[in-house]
Amino acid sequence: AKNGGRNQCRMFVQEMQKGLQKRLIITERLKAAVAREEIVPFYQPQYSLVDGGLVGCEALARWADAELGFVGPDIFIPIAEQTGLVTVLGEQLLKRACLDALTWSTPDRGLGCPMVCVNISPIQFERDDIAKMVRRVLDDTGLPAARLEIEVTESVLIADTQKAAATLLELSDMGVTIALDDFGTGYSSLSYLRSLPLNRLKIDRTFVRDMHERPAQQIVNAIIQLGANLGLCVIAEGVETEEQRQMLAKMGCQDGQGYLFSAAVPARDVHRLIEAAVPQ
Ligand code: C2E
Ligand code: CA
Ligand code: CA
Ligand code: CA
Repeated sequence: AKNGGRNQCRMFVQEMQKGLQKRLIITERLKAAVAREEIVPFYQPQYSLVDGGLVGCEALARWADAELGFVGPDIFIPIAEQTGLVTVLGEQLLKRACLDALTWSTPDRGLGCPMVCVNISPIQFERDDIAKMVRRVLDDTGLPAARLEIEVTESVLIADTQKAAATLLELSDMGVTIALDDFGTGYSSLSYLRSLPLNRLKIDRTFVRDMHERPAQQIVNAIIQLGANLGLCVIAEGVETEEQRQMLAKMGCQDGQGYLFSAAVPARDVHRLIEAAVPQ
């Protein structure tokens, strides 16, 4: 039994070393991928649950490495944060997203022009002057500020509330809109919802997933009511079934996003989503 314990311990150490090795390899590949600008945004459409219009597209980072294959953002964004690569990567992705969004206007067909929604990592938000970076990218690309939405999570607001508030205000003064991502999963004090220049609440997909059960359904309903009372737009993430869509629409949720409508698609496919959507 003693020996067994020691063997287990050795196996554990080996596993850990393997894990670390894998991480080191990913980190090295990530550095190269960022240098070559190989990580690009795909876009997941967001639809009005009221009239079916295409209201926005969320940029989601995609990385297909020649050696590692497809690596998901849940793996590489945290590594990019820990290694500081997120600063360069974040600006790269924002710039790409703005340039892509510039090609989405279809004035000839009278269709609405979807907004582009870009995630900003809490680490990046804390460390860098995000307002300055966004200003620079908007100036460089020529995208009107009103076409850009920045998604931040609640953790951003807890770390340094004063600084976060100042940054959000700067962005909002530029005309950029701000969405609070994964809403309901953080430790929000509801008072800041009133004091910050927010435009949108994104209901976390775990609540939408469990909406067939009363507790989650009540949380979703409470968030929608909260949004209505504060004059914020509410969007549900992770809408996968027709039943969920109908429940959300009935509860008064304005917008939805999820596999029911579409997964994230490459930039070149967005125009197809625009043409398939009904005029707003
Ligand atoms: P998120 O911002 O909450 O993004 C939503 C995630 O849910 C995406 O995963 C999306 O593909 C997935 N999703 C969309 N619809 C459905 C659905 O109906 N069902 C389910 N189960 N999932 C759905 P993805 O692309 O793997 O991204 C994971 C996370 O990585 C994102 O969560 C975000 O936190 C981060 N991330 C992705 N791209 C970026 C980026 O460009 N910058 C930063 N800072 N973070 C990013
Ligand atoms: Ca998001
Ligand atoms: Ca989210
Ligand atoms: Ca998330």
